[in-house]
Order: sequence, then C-alpha cells, then structure tokens
Amino acid sequence: MDNERKFRKAAETIRRASKITVFTGAGLSALSGIPTYRDPGGLWKHVDPKEMATKQGFRKNPAQVWEFAQWRRKVIKECQPNQSHRILADWSKRYSQMTVITQNIDDLHQRAGTRNVLRLHGSVWDVACSLPCEDSPRRWRDTRTSFKRLPPKCHFCGALLRPGGVWFGERLPLAAAFQSAQATQCDVFISIGTSGEVYPAARLIGDAKEAGAFTIEINPDFTPATGVVSLSIHSPAEIALQNIEDVLCPSIKDS
Ligand SMILES: [Zn+2]
Repeated sequence: MDNERKFRKAAETIRRASKITVFTGAGLSALSGIPTYRDPGGLWKHVDPKEMATKQGFRKNPAQVWEFAQWRRKVIKECQPNQSHRILADWSKRYSQMTVITQNIDDLHQRAGTRNVLRLHGSVWDVACSLPCEDSPRRWRDTRTSFKRLPPKCHFCGALLRPGGVWFGERLPLAAAFQSAQATQCDVFISIGTSGEVYPAARLIGDAKEAGAFTIEINPDFTPATGVVSLSIHSPAEIALQNIEDVLCPSIKDS
C-alpha cells in the first residue's frame, strides 16, 4: 500500500473511532530541535545513558549528571512545539476521548495546548530530593536553566537535588503508568516517533492490539513494532500527520 492510501486509511480509522490513544516518542520532537536518543547522531551516541540517566551514575558523579541536565534544560527551553504537536493538540480538542501518552520530557505537548497528556518519564522541569527527605514533595517543578552551583541542593534538607525525570531502572510514575495501561483499551492506537525499544512503555502497543485496537505506527524507520501493527507508515511524523489531517479536515486545506 502506498503512503497516500495509508494516510487515507489512518484518517478513516480515526474518524470512526470513539476512543483514540496516541503514544509519542523522541521522533516527534526532533523537528523542534530536540535531539533523539538512539538514532545515529542521537544523544546516547555521545553520552553514556548509564552515567547520565541512572541512580548509579548520579551517585558516582552528581555534578556531571547535573551539567547534562542543565544543558538539556537550556536546549529545551529554546525549542518550540512543531506542526506535529499542533495537529495532535487540535485532535485532543476535537476528539473528546483522546489520550496522549508521551515518553518525552520536553513538555511540548502541553505547550501546544494538548489535552489529556500522560508523561510516562516525567518532565525535564521536575526535580526531587535525592534522599528523599520527609519534608519535600515526591517531585516538584523548578524551571531554572542555570544553577549557581552544581549539583544544586534540596532547599528542604540540604541534601543533593536530583533531576526528577524517570531514569533507567526506575519505576514509571504510578498514576501515569496505570492510566496508560487503561488507555490501551481503545479503538485506535497510534505510535509516533518512538523506537519501541524502551520497556515497559514499548509494550503498550502490543497490549492495545491484544485489546482489539487498530494499531498504527508512524516512523521513518523500521522498528520492532513494524511487523506487529495493523498499519505501518514509514514517514516523518509531521508529514504523516499533516496528510492525515488533510483527509480529516479537507476544508481547512482548501480555504
Ligand atoms: Zn531534601
């Protein structure tokens, strides 16, 4: 099936669905200038995720972890939502039972105005006490892009502050994980711009399929999900979403 037919098929499925779940990964934010992780040229080709995104790495060298976190805060602050974020934001307002599950920590879905977003890996703006101490919330928001001293300290107890996003080997935030599992009970499940390599998030598409959803993958590359989904669209997210949106709302294109 050529891409044109796939876009039409995806649009027809979305139009008929009452419950839609969209699952997004780093590929969605690449056009905004946020580096992906596993592609050639991606973040994990330059820095070791074991050193930058695990508890052990933080214990070994908290200043280095914070230098990386501070750099990412600066990069992300300068980035804007792209056309893909804007189309998904429109869908979230148009389709009342739509959930967006994201692995991205950049908050660009929220900045685009998307409703009903579940952040599986937290946010780049989250921080937490490394102990954690009794007085501090589990995690809280701190939007500084430059800290006077690295690593910064918890203002509740004076211990080290840690970036609050989810590291490798850590549990996903309970509420987001629970609601994401519930969201696999849907009519159509669309996975966009994710390599499908990070578990348990990557399992969601399989769960959705088992629950009877029509599953769609949008990714320029072949992924482990490619052979599993009902419809695989090999195209950058912004091109696929714009084409699907043009079928859903032709009047906007023609006016
Ligand atoms: Zn503390």
